Amino acid sequence: MKAAVIRNNEIIVEELPDIDLKNREGAVVKVKGCGLCGSDIVKFTHKLSKDGTVLGHEIVGVIVKINSKSGFHEGDVIVSSHHIACGKCIYCRHGNVSMCEHFKETNIIPGGFSEYIYLSEKHLQNVAYLKPENLDDTEASFYEPLGCVIRSIKRANLIDGDKALVVGLGTIGILTAQALKAFNKEVIGCDIMQKRVDGLKNYGINAVTKPDDEYKADAVFMTSGADKAIDTALKYIRNGGKIIVFSSTPHDTSSYPNNEIYYRELTVMGSYSPSREDLKNSLEFLKSGKVKVKGLSTIYGLENIQQAFCDTMTNKIMKAYIKIN
Ligand SMILES: [Zn+2]
Ligand SMILES: [Zn+2]
Repeated sequence: MKAAVIRNNEIIVEELPDIDLKNREGAVVKVKGCGLCGSDIVKFTHKLSKDGTVLGHEIVGVIVKINSKSGFHEGDVIVSSHHIACGKCIYCRHGNVSMCEHFKETNIIPGGFSEYIYLSEKHLQNVAYLKPENLDDTEASFYEPLGCVIRSIKRANLIDGDKALVVGLGTIGILTAQALKAFNKEVIGCDIMQKRVDGLKNYGINAVTKPDDEYKADAVFMTSGADKAIDTALKYIRNGGKIIVFSSTPHDTSSYPNNEIYYRELTVMGSYSPSREDLKNSLEFLKSGKVKVKGLSTIYGLENIQQAFCDTMTNKIMKAYIKIN
């Protein structure tokens, strides 16, 4: 089978051995397509993944072989996430499922940018769902990223009447603003790029290149990885407000000033990967149309995956979807 593999800082399509279920529980899934996540870009550009790694986890696929008690059948078209929390460790008990060791160890094998993958029984039982019929494959591939977004909103623990500012209107910003609206929160988005501001307005959500000087938000969602976005967050967060960090910055030299946090009683919190419940909410939001993702993705073939990475990094496109089968 073919898969896109990291080799010497490039992504090359290689022939890998076919996947055999052998006597294992789980399923062999023929990948129909897989979304390209911002975290794939970071892993690739910051050389966090070793040679031979197959990236990709926002998958839509069809079960071709199965040995499972999960109730799925051969021929089922499914979406799945890649990590599963243990539910028992100190991280899980405090709601930090993405820090759970079991969560980090579990994955789809070899990775989503592959013609076939192996999904374990735990994946099937915990984080896989039938693809809703009213969603096409590219729409359904937002199941995992929207799950991440929903988790960040839940972590913010907003109350009725709260106002949220979304800084950065790339794909994650657009999902965050829509999901906040779906949770009945007052939201505006901001981005220095006018075309991205217009992009969010198309969803009926207020967006600006720069909020009014007097504007204050109860929570700021940081979906932009630009260092300057931190100044924006500090300017528009009200005293006692929450800043939710949902992006990495290029060099990790940027920081939130101690005294602003102390004297203004700010909460700065990170949010990374979703729990089972967040993923379930994600699929409901996609299925019901509360969060719309049609037209956000640009489709590439597996052989053009390197181009998909380049076009995403240069902001030429919003989101890449790698169509595989
Ligand atoms: Zn992702
Ligand atoms: Zn755990």
